[in-house]
Amino acid sequence: MADTVEKVPAAESSSSTAEASIAVEKTEPTTSEKKKWGDVEDDDEEEANAVSELNSLSIKEEEQPESVLEEPEDSNIKAVPAGDTPYTSASRFEDLNLSPELMKGLYVEMKFEKPSKIQAISLPMIMTPPHKHLIAQAHNGSGKTTCFVLGMLSRVDPALKQPQALCICPTRELANQNMEVLQKMGKFTGITAEVAVPETTRGQPIARRATVSAQVVIGTPGTIKKWMAFKKLGLDHLKILVFDEADHMLATDGFQDDSRRIMKDIERVNPNVQVLLFSATFNETVKDFVKWTVKDPNQLFVKREDLALDSVKQYKVVCPKEQNKIEVIKDQIMELGDIGQTIIFVRTKVSANKVHKALTEMGYDVTSVHGSMSEVDRDKIVKEFKESLTSVLIATDVIARGFDQQRVNLVVNYNLPTKYDTREPDYEVYLHRVGRAGRFGRKGAVFNLLLEEGPDRQDMEKIERYFNAHVKEIKSWNSEEEYKSALKEAGLLDE
Ligand code: AMP
Repeated sequence: MADTVEKVPAAESSSSTAEASIAVEKTEPTTSEKKKWGDVEDDDEEEANAVSELNSLSIKEEEQPESVLEEPEDSNIKAVPAGDTPYTSASRFEDLNLSPELMKGLYVEMKFEKPSKIQAISLPMIMTPPHKHLIAQAHNGSGKTTCFVLGMLSRVDPALKQPQALCICPTRELANQNMEVLQKMGKFTGITAEVAVPETTRGQPIARRATVSAQVVIGTPGTIKKWMAFKKLGLDHLKILVFDEADHMLATDGFQDDSRRIMKDIERVNPNVQVLLFSATFNETVKDFVKWTVKDPNQLFVKREDLALDSVKQYKVVCPKEQNKIEVIKDQIMELGDIGQTIIFVRTKVSANKVHKALTEMGYDVTSVHGSMSEVDRDKIVKEFKESLTSVLIATDVIARGFDQQRVNLVVNYNLPTKYDTREPDYEVYLHRVGRAGRFGRKGAVFNLLLEEGPDRQDMEKIERYFNAHVKEIKSWNSEEEYKSALKEAGLLDE
């Protein structure tokens, strides 16, 4: 498999290969309906402008050792480097000049064999002086966590006992997950790290809290802001600042104000900090933030937006009544036997409780997680699921993004995701939910359970149109045969 760091000719539209391939079967799009993942249509002009810079791109394509990652042959990444710093793609971790301790972490602890595409391209950009900012479009399961975790670990001076790397995430689950990866990968380095999420400060007046001496801090914006405001988190030695899920971090209904404030405070003290933005989409908000705050960044666009999605088959089932949805889960899914772990996504905590209660009453062992639970309970449920102690998790969208659990093969959308205010389908969350199955190119299936009455069917159509995709229908909601053949098609049941 050739390494595809692509020099993009001016005429090529980035959008051509960037369509979300969520389809089981593709349908012909109508021009007005045709939408793209990652708002890349909007990016065409900017990208064309960047083409002149692309000519100076000197990323060396190297022979790769035999692939051990399940990456599609045609997945490719477009790199738009800033200025004329030459970068050489790292086909092996050895190419990155990492410390022996970090190499050991990668091989022994993480059991990685070679960098994924996005790692091969982004890591040299992150690690090579003058340590330019990086904006990377990165998606579910593409290996982005390693890009910024290894980026942070490699830039920290282990001898300096001060915060040097800061990573800001939209949810505590993601912060904890990133921390776990960091601790595993950095196990032999002696680098210290602390997670900054609300629970950390519980019961302890912030003013009395010790000043943070951990070299890496990963947390959510509220707590980080608080630590900064109370001068508990020193910024003087900060070298690298990461925004994970930046589109969400910068969304007006997300953490825009906090993110901007944090960024401003850091810049005031430390204008040379390297900023990494990992974002699923390059929407106007992200572009705006970049324009005003992140000057002259290297940029990466992942053209096959989600390595996982190609291998995840999607289905829809129209159920006459709400109760039938529970029956589908019970008769067609819970009774299937060993098909790995399942996440059932619901819209609200009320639905989460309802589905949980119904399945528990039927004798099934399920757990659920939603935003109104205590943080301790949320952590416990997620941890049990991650350790495979439980196999069916009912969840609201608190875990739709970024949640990495390789054994999840099946996602059930008990409710389609809709926007809180408009009740329109939330396309992005849909894609994120689908991405919970089939991590890093593994097989997976998604069942969308729709109610006959009400907006569900129309919403599903909108989702299909948005992604220019046709999601196959299970014609009779209670036909065991149809579910079985769907799962066989998805590769989750043997023929
Ligand atoms: P991420 O997109 O960072 O959440 O990564 C998705 C999954 O791929 C995680 O379970 C990682 O452990 C795994 N992964 C990331 N990079 C590599 C690699 N270079 N080799 C093998 N697995 C990887």
